[in-house]
Amino acid sequence: MTVTGPPGYTLTFAEADPADVDRLGGKGAGLARMSQQQLRVPPGYIIGTPACRTYLAEKRLPDGLVDEIGSRLTELERAAGKAFGGGPVPLLLSVRSGAPISMPGMMDTILNLGICRDSAVALGRATGDSRFVADVVARFHAMYAETVLGALDPGPAVASVVDSVIGTDDPGAVYDRVWAACERALADDTGDTVPADPQDQLLGAVEAVFRSWNTRRARTYRDFHGIPHDLGTAVVVQSMVFGNLSDDSGSGVVFTRNPVTGEPGLFGEYLAHSQGEDVVAGVRTPDPVATALAPSVLAELQSTCDALERAQGDVLDIEFTVERSVLYLLQVRSAKRTPEAAVRIAADLVDAGVTTVRAALRGVSAAQVRQVQRPGFDPAEVTAARAGGRLLTTGIGACPGQVSGALVLDPDRARDRTDAGEAVVLARSVTSPADLHGMIAARGIVTATGGSTSHAAVVARALGTCCVVGAGELRIDAATRTLLVGKTRLAEGDPVSLDGSTGELFAGSFATATPAATSGAMDRVLAMASAASGCEVLSRVTLPADVAVARSAGACGLVTAIDEILAATGHLDGLVAHLLEAPARGADGFERFTDLIAQELAPVLAEAGGLEVGVRAIDLVADESRELLQQTAVTTRHPELAVPLGRLALIEAQLAGLGRALASSGGAARVHLAVRHICDPAEARLLRETAAGTGIAVGSYLTSPRGVLAIEEIAGVSDVIWLEVRSLQAAMFGLPPRLLLTAEPLDDYLRRGLLPADPRRRLDPSVERLLGPAAAVAGAARVGVRLAGEVSETVVEQLYSLGFRRFAISTGETRPLTLALGRAATG
Ligand code: ADP
Ligand code: MG
Repeated sequence: MTVTGPPGYTLTFAEADPADVDRLGGKGAGLARMSQQQLRVPPGYIIGTPACRTYLAEKRLPDGLVDEIGSRLTELERAAGKAFGGGPVPLLLSVRSGAPISMPGMMDTILNLGICRDSAVALGRATGDSRFVADVVARFHAMYAETVLGALDPGPAVASVVDSVIGTDDPGAVYDRVWAACERALADDTGDTVPADPQDQLLGAVEAVFRSWNTRRARTYRDFHGIPHDLGTAVVVQSMVFGNLSDDSGSGVVFTRNPVTGEPGLFGEYLAHSQGEDVVAGVRTPDPVATALAPSVLAELQSTCDALERAQGDVLDIEFTVERSVLYLLQVRSAKRTPEAAVRIAADLVDAGVTTVRAALRGVSAAQVRQVQRPGFDPAEVTAARAGGRLLTTGIGACPGQVSGALVLDPDRARDRTDAGEAVVLARSVTSPADLHGMIAARGIVTATGGSTSHAAVVARALGTCCVVGAGELRIDAATRTLLVGKTRLAEGDPVSLDGSTGELFAGSFATATPAATSGAMDRVLAMASAASGCEVLSRVTLPADVAVARSAGACGLVTAIDEILAATGHLDGLVAHLLEAPARGADGFERFTDLIAQELAPVLAEAGGLEVGVRAIDLVADESRELLQQTAVTTRHPELAVPLGRLALIEAQLAGLGRALASSGGAARVHLAVRHICDPAEARLLRETAAGTGIAVGSYLTSPRGVLAIEEIAGVSDVIWLEVRSLQAAMFGLPPRLLLTAEPLDDYLRRGLLPADPRRRLDPSVERLLGPAAAVAGAARVGVRLAGEVSETVVEQLYSLGFRRFAISTGETRPLTLALGRAATG
């Protein structure tokens, strides 16, 4: 490609390399790609992110940028055949922000820039429509005032001046009237003025886009999504097209597939006689593209979407404008989608040959898989509520989920109540980026206006938060903090329930439960992930009924724990009492204990069929079972019970119980008994000797760095080894393992910069060094990793790249882990 024009900070859509997203930003790269594919994109150029970074560092535009902007503008005037700030055909611009990572709604865009008296007159002559001119002038002024000067909406005074304009009025006079009204409103508000000179407007807008990188809402969004703060934004300077020109003009947003359900087929919204901001802002509720667009435009849009989806191998979100029945493309990016849609789309795109397994797995996260299995309402309660008149209203389901919570009408209070431990549903007339903290906090979000591409809907989908938009009957009274729906008035704090699929809002709360069934798409995606990683995933079960759940989650084996089984079946207290009374030494009366294990474990093993079942021996020092086992009392009276093999009779009783359970269950399961806190080969040897003759394999759960350092030797005398990652991380930090399961106090510690990385989300380098050699242990033993809590994709990637291929995890996290392993293997 030959690079024309001045070298430096800017590139035209034709010159730019679409792969260079870091420089061009996502929006610029997408526009460059589409225009190089010969799609109809209004001409423009991109000011790359390096200029923004320099601006932010030096607080002024970099040397040479002003001249470059000027010469690019001259090129653009030539390419568009229009004149900036004049006629006969005036060039108006959109000045758009676009970061390397998509941040929808977070940054600022100014439309209709370059309007001045001369260009207004020319625009009036060219279109013959002074009402349109008035609209353009007012829109430009309001957007510039808001984004550059921080002004509020100009209010009804300006609107009424615009409304009073007739199409045949003199455009010069119209410009004067509208501009003056806008300036008056702004003077009352901030005391500022908007530059009348188009060149000044352009430079002011570019600077404002640069500055918008550091607004509070942008920083909040980046913090939440873990996006670095030093990338900077690019600026797109583009020729305007006008959706607000006529009735055969308009603007819209379309997804190449339904972003709520994942169903194939165009899904989008269009608002005739509008500029794009009207759709995105959610102020007017738009119409479905399929019915609102002229057939020829719809057909062109459909074929364009198909081609783009195939070329990019992903579901896309496309912004477009129609000017006098001609389709223009204004933005393309990967579509934000609900977790349900993400799973369905990944499966469908591979099936349709649109993308590879690797790319499809990029499109689904472990968190999304977790959300797809999220709890839902008890259907009987919902039916009763409908019959009992508790259904308040039905809006548009924007992000699925079924949640109950206290009604809150304000984002600050939503956050405060959530911090205080309450579940809240945030109701707003319409949301704006300033509401983000409240939206992150809320369990559910409902708005009165807006369609499924409004701010609320897009943000909720990115967050995976249950959301309903366009519930038109909601009337929010901020003063009395009440919500009126039809004849029902609810006060803040009243319980409500929201269904993000059906769009229903109910008074009162519902019991929720986790769904057992998953869709075929989920199974297909997990099968791909599992084939890609080649890993074994064992799921933790306690009751016989758990086994079927673990199987359906794709587990290839099971792990269980004797103390948890006894606790779940109500026998643990008896055992603890027995241990407390038992004499200190000797093979004392554990027969009853053996009987209980045989009795309660047999049904689990029977359900397991031929699967591998790892059984963990009772652990009297487990940090997390402190309360459960009253271990202080037991190990105070009998300190020998605080070491793994302190009372061999207890191990023998468990081996015997396990042996009997296996025999009575049919003996198909491949079982082992593993003991926690083994840290020396001598212990492992004694364990093996103790089990000799029982036919039961034995193993160790290593929880101490010492044990891991001795893994080679321990593996030589064990059948199975489990490395407990959370315990090992905690041991390295000298923290109680349970601290790695809670938010505080580590959140606070991280905020204060007292730890460089979060040990709940990432393996510490010391732990990586410790585990590295363990993954390569040859020996007879099968070495696996036991994970606890929510799967962290980062930890999974680290473990996979260290070489681990065998994992055990809770049943609920089996699917997220399987997916994360597939992503790690293809990443
Ligand atoms: P965001 O990053 O918030 O999506 P955009 O830069 O995409 O902001 O601008 C918002 C809307 O402004 C777009 O959806 C589009 O409809 C409209 N817009 C942007 N550029 C142009 C243009 N050159 N001509 C007409 N409308 C535009
Ligand atoms: Mg956009």
